[in-house]
Amino acid sequence: MEEKTTKKSKRRCSFCGRTEDEVGFLITGVNGCICDSCSEQAHEIVKEAMQQKNKAGNLNLSELPRPKDIKEFLDLYVIGQDDAKRYLSVAVYNHYKRLLQSTGKDDVEIEKSNIIMVGSTGTGKTLLARTIAKLLHVPFTIVDATVLTEAGYVGEDIESILTRLLQAADYNVPEAERGIVFIDEIDKIARKGDNPSITRDVSGEGVQQGLLKLLEGSIVNVPPQGGRKHPDQKMIPVNTKNILFICGGAFDGIERKIAQRLNTNIVGYSAAKETVKVDRNNLMQYIAPQDLKSFGLIPEIIGRLPVLTYLNPLDRTALRNILTEPKNSIIKQYIKLFEMDGVKLEFQPEALEYIVDKAVEYKLGARGLRSIVESIMMDMMFEVPSHPRDMLTVTLKYAQEQMDKTNLSRLQMA
Ligand code: ADP
Repeated sequence: MEEKTTKKSKRRCSFCGRTEDEVGFLITGVNGCICDSCSEQAHEIVKEAMQQKNKAGNLNLSELPRPKDIKEFLDLYVIGQDDAKRYLSVAVYNHYKRLLQSTGKDDVEIEKSNIIMVGSTGTGKTLLARTIAKLLHVPFTIVDATVLTEAGYVGEDIESILTRLLQAADYNVPEAERGIVFIDEIDKIARKGDNPSITRDVSGEGVQQGLLKLLEGSIVNVPPQGGRKHPDQKMIPVNTKNILFICGGAFDGIERKIAQRLNTNIVGYSAAKETVKVDRNNLMQYIAPQDLKSFGLIPEIIGRLPVLTYLNPLDRTALRNILTEPKNSIIKQYIKLFEMDGVKLEFQPEALEYIVDKAVEYKLGARGLRSIVESIMMDMMFEVPSHPRDMLTVTLKYAQEQMDKTNLSRLQMA
């Protein structure tokens, strides 16, 4: 539809009809033109339509990964921790279902089931959260509870948790309202009185009360830039009703609370002999909501985190598997690093066993594995790029020599 005018055949905008000297700018297409203001308007219309589409929900249950698929995916990256994986997979799948539920037909409304994962540091809580994020179809963010403080104190306001989610959703509020938030180190906001390891006073119960508001589902005014609220910042209201919260924490010393509870229970039963034998080496598997309460979480918070799961401490076999099995295991990463220099890197199985031995011996856990391998590989990584060769094998002897040179106290700080 070539726009022609009688006078001097001036080009016109095919949308508003204004001539080229009546507009700021004219873009010519195959069959017509569009002016600057019409294209801006078109952009707005498209943006709004897209948001509308998102609001309506573009999830389709038949296309979404099922709990088994989610767990299989987690298995590729995270060793063991089956219990936590199953709970997480189901929670994510149910979260999708809740977003898709139709209202009105019956009175049944699927409510959300926020999760709390308890497990010693370095057992894979954050790794699980990061891995699950890779296959989520909703916005996701990880926040750290240690920075949270009660309003009025130095630190970040509770609402800043949602700022991160808004950012992950590109400030699309309806999208953010369907998202998932992983709150790490939730144990750090436990009430001080019940937990001597917490040194901060201003957090504790006040922060938990603030968090409760988010977990319960309410409309929260979120500072778009995060940090602390200041009066001239325009707040964005976000409804947390459909946001799924997954909390994780090490709850250092909670095994003692579990043991105490188990002991009293056993004493309390007359048929004590019939009670199931307790595995003292892994008390975490018996964790119950009342242990979280003894640790210093307020009952209201515990009530809002109805799904409680745990992570096992990593034994020798788990550590050995972590070295080589996950899709991006530490060893695979080093092999790739050397491959980029044209070198085929190999590890003698005995050398791998030695690395695990050291991690166990110095109680470094999975996090320490990387520092140990890094120490062993440092000289090679320094030398090899300047003196490339086809193949290199890390032998037990080489690993031992390198470790002997290492200041182990440095590793322990890791
Ligand atoms: P947490 O959050 O429980 O303190 P992380 O998830 O941050 O621990 O774990 C620290 C690192 O240790 C991870 O980045 C990963 O390399 C390794 N790791 C820990 N647990 C596992 C596991 N179960 N499977 C694979 N790697 C693990």
